[in-house]
Amino acid sequence: MLKDILQTHKQNTILVGKINRYLISKNGTDASHFDGTFHPSMATSCKRQLAYVLLGLNISNIGAKLRRIFDNGKYYHLRVQKYIKKMSKAGIYGIKLLTTEERIGPTEDNISSQPDQTLIIDGLKYVLELKSINDHGFKELMGVSEGYTDQIQLYMHVTGIPRTLVLYENKNDQEFKEYVITYDADTVRKILDKFASVTKANKREILPERECKGEYEYKAKHCNYCSVCFSEANFKDIVKMVKTLREEKEKRKKDRAKERE
Ligand code: SF4
Repeated sequence: MLKDILQTHKQNTILVGKINRYLISKNGTDASHFDGTFHPSMATSCKRQLAYVLLGLNISNIGAKLRRIFDNGKYYHLRVQKYIKKMSKAGIYGIKLLTTEERIGPTEDNISSQPDQTLIIDGLKYVLELKSINDHGFKELMGVSEGYTDQIQLYMHVTGIPRTLVLYENKNDQEFKEYVITYDADTVRKILDKFASVTKANKREILPERECKGEYEYKAKHCNYCSVCFSEANFKDIVKMVKTLREEKEKRKKDRAKERE
């Protein structure tokens, strides 16, 4: 991260370097506002990472450009959600909007989710998932990727709606592609079993086994939790670390409030 920040100082620009610096400053190790429930986006995380997140440890390391890409994706969501809202309100084309980014859960298996939208299209209920994708990815796209389908299965599990429509938009020319995924009880069972084993390990105050064999394994190199995972920190150390981070965060909040007085 330090390397990225230094890079923004080197950029010979008026505003670009400052924006990038601001976006990078959002990264770091923090105690999350995590609500203690599993979310569909965690479907493909390893057990150890799930344990860290469940304990409230939040480590993010997103480059400035990637953060802008994510933010851009959010505007795609808002745009399509607005189309659906307007069609539903006008009562046209067989569209009836049910929910928009409504928080659902926690379920009895401790999962909460917030699908982009749920709606009825021509008499059938769907979860709607919105994805924007670059031109190359869009042209190569033959269906929904495996990791993403796991996440989608949990949306269906939580909402009780047995089908999801995934609507991809090409970022370059706004072309659409759509795919329907149907509920698969076996996949959901496997994910729920993984979540349950993490909850069990947390109750026993132990960290699940590390899945990566070394720090230079592909998965570890791309994991934000790699350095803590390959450190000596055990369950109790992580609990202490989160407690300290929370206290520091609270103190920063109070200091800022005082400054404003
Ligand atoms: S480094 Fe590997 S085992 Fe450790 S949290 Fe990351 S993905 Fe999981």
